[in-house]
Amino acid sequence: MTARLIDGNALAQAIRAEVAGRTQALKARGIQPRLAILLVGEDPASQVYTKHKVADSTATGLQATLETFPADLSEAALLARIRQLNADASVHGILVQLPLPRHLDASKVIETIDPAKDVDGFHVASAGALVTGQPGFWPCTPYGCMKMLESIGYDLRGKHAVVIGRSNIVGKPMALMLLQRSATVTICHSATTDLAAHTRQADVVVAAVGKRNVLTADMVKPGAVVIDVGMNRNEQGKLCGDVDFEGVSAVAGWITPVPGGVGPMTRAMLLVNTLEAAERAAGA
Ligand code: NAP
Repeated sequence: MTARLIDGNALAQAIRAEVAGRTQALKARGIQPRLAILLVGEDPASQVYTKHKVADSTATGLQATLETFPADLSEAALLARIRQLNADASVHGILVQLPLPRHLDASKVIETIDPAKDVDGFHVASAGALVTGQPGFWPCTPYGCMKMLESIGYDLRGKHAVVIGRSNIVGKPMALMLLQRSATVTICHSATTDLAAHTRQADVVVAAVGKRNVLTADMVKPGAVVIDVGMNRNEQGKLCGDVDFEGVSAVAGWITPVPGGVGPMTRAMLLVNTLEAAERAAGA
């Protein structure tokens, strides 16, 4: 079997177009959706990510402001700025770029964001909403994966989904979203014995580890849907995922590429969350 590709670039483009349309509708009512991005320190990767977030927002009609702070910013000052943004009705989404310098307590910082503006979906209130099936913001990466499954018309009901990885921002919320769609979910992690025994039974595998070739062809059931969240570099410095793309493509039914898969979807879902924050604030 040769797997069909789930094209994250094309899907993200369609989502951005939809966001642009809905943003126009809000603007017509005098509401400008606004995202405040806070960056502390000079981590080069974070600088690139935040620049992309601003550019993506601007391109879809959302307004994004990037506030940069020196690496030695005090926690009190950062929390004070977040509280100001919480109180500012013209700001609909607040995003603090992670990782933060060590002296800042990331949990405390995230918990200070008003859950109604938590467009990253990292607040415990957002996590709690996901666990209990209440409305809230879903973390962008697993949310993007769900959109990819939706785009191929995949019915998760009764299917066996295996998530490799249990981080708070990808693996755990991913498993909960799959469960919410009535999949039977297995979560694997570094202490899992015989990972392949689990993945071989899976109709859907989501790999979110951060190690190359965690999933190889012999570990995949023929026809399975394989979603590759991983972002790694190969020996040539080229971006690659957790999945042995070439080998697994010969066995799986559907597969997401890296690059051009989950990455662009993550970026697109931040725009969706920001727009939805503005729509909710407007009572739409
Ligand atoms: P993380 O916090 O480091 O979590 C990695 C998870 O993988 C952990 O739960 C770990 O288990 C598990 N793991 C490690 N080795 C394993 C093994 N050999 N077998 C099974 N599980 C293993 O990473 P993350 O933030 O979730 O991100 C995961 C990957 O996705 C990274 O490559 C990251 O760069 C990428 N990512 C991509 C996007 C995107 O937009 N494309 C967004 C976010 C993240 P333990 O819990 O037991 O340690």
